[in-house]
Amino acid sequence: MPRYVYCCPKHGRFERILRVSDHRRIVECECGTDSPQVITPITVVIPSHMSATGVSAYESPVSGEIITTQRQRANDLAAHDCIEYEPGMKQDTDRRVIEDDARLDKLVDETFDREFTAMPSDKREALVNEIASGATAETVRI
Ligand SMILES: [Zn+2]
Repeated sequence: MPRYVYCCPKHGRFERILRVSDHRRIVECECGTDSPQVITPITVVIPSHMSATGVSAYESPVSGEIITTQRQRANDLAAHDCIEYEPGMKQDTDRRVIEDDARLDKLVDETFDREFTAMPSDKREALVNEIASGATAETVRI
């Protein structure tokens, strides 16, 4: 199973080993804080029609090997922690992405509010003036 790295705003980075199907872009730290993923791994999903009644020869998108049998396909999927595509999977993923984005936006807003409130008042005032004079801020995921 792949290892995912998340970053708790309070405790820093931590890892989770999850099945691909259980992967989330935000998980809770042990302290209960929503923690966004640091690096997005590549997930390969292969359509199930290719294996339903036999395998049309294809090149493994992960290893580049030519796959011609059910056994090769099963081994290739297992070796790279891939799963068969099932109907509805994309909709589930799209829904989770929307949910995770909303949670991430909330987390960014909360973090900004917390950091802004904790700033010395002169820095806070300087920032307010900078924004009022037309400076723009951009959220960058690192
Ligand atoms: Zn934490």
